[in-house]
Amino acid sequence: MSLRISNAILHFGEEPPISGNGGSGTVFFSGCPMKCVYCQNFGFSQLMRGVNISESDLAFIMLELQRAGAENINLVTASQYLPHVLKSLEIASKKGLNIPIVWNTSSYESLESLRLLDGIVDVYLADIRYVEDEVGMRYSKVPNYWSVAKKALKEMFKQVGAFDGKRGMIIRILVFPGRITNHKKALDFVASELSKDVPVSIMRQYMPVFRAKEYPEISRKVTEEEYMEVVEYAERLGLDGWIQTDEPQIVPTRSVSSIYNLLKERL
Ligand code: SF4
Repeated sequence: MSLRISNAILHFGEEPPISGNGGSGTVFFSGCPMKCVYCQNFGFSQLMRGVNISESDLAFIMLELQRAGAENINLVTASQYLPHVLKSLEIASKKGLNIPIVWNTSSYESLESLRLLDGIVDVYLADIRYVEDEVGMRYSKVPNYWSVAKKALKEMFKQVGAFDGKRGMIIRILVFPGRITNHKKALDFVASELSKDVPVSIMRQYMPVFRAKEYPEISRKVTEEEYMEVVEYAERLGLDGWIQTDEPQIVPTRSVSSIYNLLKERL
């Protein structure tokens, strides 16, 4: 599959230690192994909008992000391009890339892929979307989400441990309407199967976009009560991390066009 990206930006809307002062140097890849009916990024994740680039171009982009002040390189849903990404990282590191590598993933990842990332990835920013395979089938059109993800999450944790401010694993829970029991089970998994030291980021930006209206039970926003129930449950388990206290804002970014246009000039 040709390497294809949608955008490269300095992202200031990630968890505070990931965005830092300089922003997270985020690369959005086109395509995704999941096909979520509520995907806010369906234009590039499912309709494949973006531009084909070479491995050297991706290395160049990562170096440009570093030069622009990025705290890290944040690779969003990159697993379908793993051989290309590994080559790009090798090229970039020979040319001076030395900031941490963040693997931003739905956790629908094979163990074979993850083992290739061992020693390369510094931070796993890993979702737990569902804890039942049939729910993953309904909303993300994959038959075995939880069967795959729970093994993948354990492998990621084994590689990097809990996030310590610079390196390690962070779990993301996107709260869905009416799915509170699911999220509580996901938090139980973190506390009992991973570690209570793994920070949990509880996210409230779910919006019923794209095809979510076809699924009446998720065709609304999350209520304050639902969100807080998940947050309080995490607190009761002794989990720490980040919550969103207000309605999600437009996520700030910087240097989007300059880096992207730079690349376009190069192509
Ligand atoms: S995992 Fe789902 S929500 Fe995330 S990019 Fe892929 S399709 Fe979209």
